Amino acid sequence: IDPADSLVHALRKAAAEVPDRTFLAYFDGRLGYREVDELSDSVAGYLAARGLERGDRVAILLQNSPHFLLALLGAWKAGATVVPVNPMYKAGEVTHVLRDGEAAALICSDRAWESYLRETAADSPVRIVLTGCELDFQTRDDARVLAFERLPQAADAEDLTAVARAGLKAPEGRDPGPSDIALISYTSGTSGAPKGATNTHANLMYNAERQRTGLELPDAPVYFALAPLFHITGMVCQLGACLNSAGTLVLAYRFEAGVVLDAFAEHGPHYTVGPSTAFMALAAHPDVTRDHFASFRMISSGGAPLPPALVEKFRAAFGPYIRNGYGLTECTAPCASVPPTLEAPVDPVSGTLAVGLPGPDTVVRIVDDQGAEVPFGEQGEIVVRGPQVVPGYWRRPDATAETFPDGELRTGDIGFMDEQGWLYVVDRKKDMINASGFKVWPREVEDVLYTHPAVREAAVVGVPDGYRGETVKAYISLRPGADTDPDELAVYCKERLAAYKYPRQVEILSDLPKTATGKILRRELRSRGQGEQ
Ligand code: ATP
Repeated sequence: IDPADSLVHALRKAAAEVPDRTFLAYFDGRLGYREVDELSDSVAGYLAARGLERGDRVAILLQNSPHFLLALLGAWKAGATVVPVNPMYKAGEVTHVLRDGEAAALICSDRAWESYLRETAADSPVRIVLTGCELDFQTRDDARVLAFERLPQAADAEDLTAVARAGLKAPEGRDPGPSDIALISYTSGTSGAPKGATNTHANLMYNAERQRTGLELPDAPVYFALAPLFHITGMVCQLGACLNSAGTLVLAYRFEAGVVLDAFAEHGPHYTVGPSTAFMALAAHPDVTRDHFASFRMISSGGAPLPPALVEKFRAAFGPYIRNGYGLTECTAPCASVPPTLEAPVDPVSGTLAVGLPGPDTVVRIVDDQGAEVPFGEQGEIVVRGPQVVPGYWRRPDATAETFPDGELRTGDIGFMDEQGWLYVVDRKKDMINASGFKVWPREVEDVLYTHPAVREAAVVGVPDGYRGETVKAYISLRPGADTDPDELAVYCKERLAAYKYPRQVEILSDLPKTATGKILRRELRSRGQGEQ
């Protein structure tokens, strides 16, 4: 595959070479490569017939289902730019994205359309609406209904399944080129309201191809879509790598530990990627066994800190080694990862697990506040240059100039590099806690908390303190059946960390708030902590 090519070409190539191979597996349903190629052609034909032009935006608000892929590939074949929308967004956030991205079309579930999107979209440029039969479900049986039974169609929207089955041809001359924008991926970035990172087809193809070649999976590999596909990590590391190797992509709607474990047992996936919280949830599930992970050749964790204690506990209990990977939406998911033949080192001083080595064409540097490179081992901001770095933010020249000076991405993350070139992420610059003038990085405290056997999840934030300015507070959720209390956890940290770092306050919650991608929301906990003062 020519890396300057697009995922549309990868689909056509696979449809020609292995037409009957399963591309998408969804509970008991399967779609082959030729079928997906034809169904997405028909979606493209429909969009073009409705007046959608090259470069127009198509917003997709769907969970991990075949509908998502038919919508995405159909939109790309019509020459459109896709705006993936986080299904956890509230109406106001969706309105922002539809307006900011000037979406001409919206593809969503019937239920979301009926319950709030009809109203939301009325206030936006959306003029074409397609809905598919997706519903929330709690059990596997609900999921079966979802996959095979048509539900009453929203009266004022076209039915995505019917459109896909209409046998229309994709319009001629619309295939995307490498510098066309494939996705406008909304992310809060380092600050402010969500901005759209413009991932080009070349950005996407480069990282998808690097991911594929870096995995060393068998022929016709089976990928499990644990990360949501609307997020760049899911899109590139699961869909992109899978399409480039003409593999099978197993979908299971949204993350639900029991459903995911059943799907592992049924489909025997070789690879998946998710945030560390997903692996913690799987490990804590009452039905989990070592057999559930027997088919895996590799598992990656990306997009959020990976506590070294989790890697060890997981390997001891289930076998696979969870590999770290580091990236941002602005660099189209990974820019550093752990090669399959190596294990990431743990920094002896801070106890931080390395996130990986930068890719071959990627230059990762650590710079000080003036932008000068710092020596090995010293902390500074991580900056990235490479073929996966996006050209900028959608219609935000100021934010683009600030975050991408001279085309280099300023990540807003603090990190360091060792002499072998391993990259370590200390924390986000904006999450630093200033306790009496001492810098405390939440990550380091969280890593210690994760070594405690009772701790399932930990998040550390700064809360206002009359004496110190800010003080360290830990929010914890416990493993099932675990027995401990806040004082014991504070003492545990005190014994292992410098006096200014250990959490003066510890609060136990039944669950920690998370984003749709499963990242723990420190932001929300910080506001909660402020509210309590
Ligand atoms: P959102 O898009 O929901 O607004 P976000 O700011 O988390 O949130 P992403 O692009 O998804 O946006 O995440 C990128 C950030 O995730 C990085 O800047 C870094 O702080 C964090 N991150 C990614 N991978 C790792 C890793 N392996 N270890 C530690 N932190 C990581």
